Amino acid sequence: MEKYVYLFTELDEAEAAVGGDWDAVRGLLGGKGANLADMTRLGVPVPPGFTGTTRACNAYLARGGEFPEGYWEQEIVALEALEEATGKRFGDPSTPLLLSCRSGAKRSMPGMMDTVLNLGLNDEITEGLAGSTGDARFAYDLYRRLLHMFGSVVLNIPDHPFEQVLDQRRAHVGAKLDADLDAEDWKAVVEAYKGVVRTFSGAEFPSDPREQLRRATEAVFRSWNGKRAVDYRNASGIPHDLGTAVNVQTMVFGNIGEGSATGVCMSRDGTTGEPHLEGDYLENAQGEDVVAGVRATDPISVLLERNPAVYGELREIARKLEAHYRNMQDMEFTIERGKLWVLQTRDGKRTAEAEVRIAVDMANEELISREEALLRVSPEQVDVFLHPKLDPRAVGGVKPLAKGLAVSPGAAVGQVFFDADTAERMGKEGRSVVLVRPDTKPDDVHGMLAAKGILTSRGGRTSHAALVARQFGKPAVVGVTDMEIDLVARTFETDGTVVEEGDWISLDGTRGLVYEGELATVVADLDNPYLAALLSWADDIRRLGVRANADYPRDAERARTYGAEGIGLCRTEHMFFEADRLPLIQNMIMAKDHVEQDAALAALLPLQRGDFDGLFRVMDGLPVIIRLIDPPLHEFLPAHDQLVRDLADLKVRLQHFHTLSEIDTALEELHTKQRYLERVDALAEANPMLGTRGVRLGMLIPGLVRMQVRAIFEAACRCKRDGVDVRPEVMIPLVSHVGELRAMLATLEEEAKATMAKQALEVPYKFGTMIEIPRAAVTAGELASVAEFFSFGTNDLTQTTFGISRDDAEKGFLVEYLRRGVLSRNPFETIDAEGVGRLMQWAVQEGKAVRPDLEVGICGEHGGDPASIHLCHKLGLDYVSCSPFRVPIARLSAAHAALGKATNG
Ligand code: ADP
Ligand code: MG
Ligand code: MG
Repeated sequence: MEKYVYLFTELDEAEAAVGGDWDAVRGLLGGKGANLADMTRLGVPVPPGFTGTTRACNAYLARGGEFPEGYWEQEIVALEALEEATGKRFGDPSTPLLLSCRSGAKRSMPGMMDTVLNLGLNDEITEGLAGSTGDARFAYDLYRRLLHMFGSVVLNIPDHPFEQVLDQRRAHVGAKLDADLDAEDWKAVVEAYKGVVRTFSGAEFPSDPREQLRRATEAVFRSWNGKRAVDYRNASGIPHDLGTAVNVQTMVFGNIGEGSATGVCMSRDGTTGEPHLEGDYLENAQGEDVVAGVRATDPISVLLERNPAVYGELREIARKLEAHYRNMQDMEFTIERGKLWVLQTRDGKRTAEAEVRIAVDMANEELISREEALLRVSPEQVDVFLHPKLDPRAVGGVKPLAKGLAVSPGAAVGQVFFDADTAERMGKEGRSVVLVRPDTKPDDVHGMLAAKGILTSRGGRTSHAALVARQFGKPAVVGVTDMEIDLVARTFETDGTVVEEGDWISLDGTRGLVYEGELATVVADLDNPYLAALLSWADDIRRLGVRANADYPRDAERARTYGAEGIGLCRTEHMFFEADRLPLIQNMIMAKDHVEQDAALAALLPLQRGDFDGLFRVMDGLPVIIRLIDPPLHEFLPAHDQLVRDLADLKVRLQHFHTLSEIDTALEELHTKQRYLERVDALAEANPMLGTRGVRLGMLIPGLVRMQVRAIFEAACRCKRDGVDVRPEVMIPLVSHVGELRAMLATLEEEAKATMAKQALEVPYKFGTMIEIPRAAVTAGELASVAEFFSFGTNDLTQTTFGISRDDAEKGFLVEYLRRGVLSRNPFETIDAEGVGRLMQWAVQEGKAVRPDLEVGICGEHGGDPASIHLCHKLGLDYVSCSPFRVPIARLSAAHAALGKATNG
């Protein structure tokens, strides 16, 4: 017959039964049971007990609520062993053994299932206990606890009637606290509780201890399928077929007067990770009092004052358990008349900050290896770590206004503004701003930069708002569909609450929550020495390089302090969008002839040179990849519709002007707008994404890219003259055919050489290409004969491989595909390994075959995604490049990849 019940002292047998694997032992005995037995074997003081297996639970549930054959008999045999071990007898009024009956699944589900304490009491036994302990108050307090717990857990009686009885009694004797009630009071409460049981269950409380035990065991098994437990498993992805074990354990008493106490204790601080005991401590109380919060607890340091010896013992046990489990422990303990008992231990929950510190400390203490320390910290934890967050104490009990997608972690607290210009203005005035928009577009970026956080009602995880927010480390909540924004009234409404412009709100970008008002935040510590140490270990282990996508010196600087080893992508066009540049680039586009065009380019040259100069200096000694202009030109001109509207408006106004000079300016404006409109019409393409952009622009307007190359090399020479070690790498976007690359390189390298010759200086440089079109990937061998480096532009490569436009897809069918499981992941978030990844693999192999020292990297948004980083490692890329804020995450992920850690990607 199957062995269903194991004494805590029979761990060896349980191990043998499952083949020695600890995970399987936890599966069989549950986490609580396995660890209780394990602690017993380690010599930690654990009250004797036994565990009924999860297999028994599953059999019980499968049989519709009947123990499997032999189960109950085995429990009785184990019970007799407990009586033997304790010298007490279950049901014996003179030396009563009392028991707790506790649930405990393989994965911890705190408070989700049921436990009954103080089993084994009835009228006669309670009287006996009162006599033998000389403490009637204590005995009747236990009895009423049993009646209440048994009533609620086993008989499903609501708490309310029990609480009512207690309230009445307190009022009757004028007591404020339970501590003010005496033996007579508890006796009266017990009688009333029996009445409650009778009324609600239609039967007497079972006075036979064995029946109590049997029914409590059944209730524990049944609690696996309780609503709370099922919901919790759904929410945390715990399988429903694990079942719970039941732990039956000798009661120890923290409520037996002086020198008795109970508490919960972490072996290290769960918030900060500091290596000291942290916890709650309650004198003269029983375990559930701490959890239930019926009495205010003391910090564990009070134990040090009251009983340094026991405190010392607890600390020793904590150390021993940490050494054994090689992890921070969360322990329940009880002190019975000065004697310490440990009732539970498990790996403790902790904040990201604590996780990092504990991992590093434990590696330094040689409890774990550095590799293990690295593996313990997840990229998401590093992410959380890097952003300020809402103060948990401020959030407690506050109901959020709305919920959306958590796309960029951290907290943002500020006043609501509804457009980018206002946001920017308010930001300049020194206000904290939250930019609230239906969605965002590239020309909202200045407002986003000025804001502390971003909130949108539309858009998904990779919407413009989400990407830009992440890029700049701005907390953001997007896709808050319940939010109704009225841009005219300048308000938004959600769930009946109206928020007006200027009102304060608080965003939790880590959870995707929006709160009303100004909540407190706690600042993350970027210079945290533990994170720095951990990441330096990651650097020792990873093979992939980590660079940053940065367009401005300011971002490059941040990237460098975060550990970037160069710039993988500088988008030159971002600079063109700045207020002082846009007119110049527009002049270039509007030029009637070459002379005008050259003049416009000449005006742009010094500005570009200044941009690159700053980047090179920040990245002294490191490579800087500069991508030549990429977007279609119409993006630099006003939108077609806007121009049409402006023109109509002007025409109307023209009729009301009186002075000649007024009319003249208006006419001139009209004329300019007209020309712009013609140009916009001429540039209009049915499919701009597949139109005249990237290298194609360079082919048509060589003067533009020549100017860029000249700016790069003039800046490089200047920096070199100042002693800076410059390493420019010029990258040509959107190449699909080697012919394009040959033609461009002939022009551009000539320009580069001429510029250096003029400066009488040489700088090391490279010319390379992006791989973002399937044809480029397929013909990578040919491209590598010309290009000295490849950089995968996986955003475009994903679009062109799938043949979809991202903006359209993410607004429409892609969402549906993800919802229906046609695609398991958004390919714009995590590289599609089977499609895009295969093209990348081919390109790496072909490219490196032709040019062994070909440098290959990735600069798409994927470069900061852990699962994609794993793929890049596997494909043998030289580096990944991502936004500065993701650099620490990429460093860790690259180390994880090198350590062969599995991802869910
Ligand atoms: P939970 O999973 O809700 O923590 P537990 O089974 O761990 O449930 O028990 C609830 C409380 O009762 C805990 O504080 C625990 O320490 C205490 N407790 C359980 N068994 C005993 C016992 N045998 N003696 C004293 N206290 C106990
Ligand atoms: Mg517990
Ligand atoms: Mg691209």
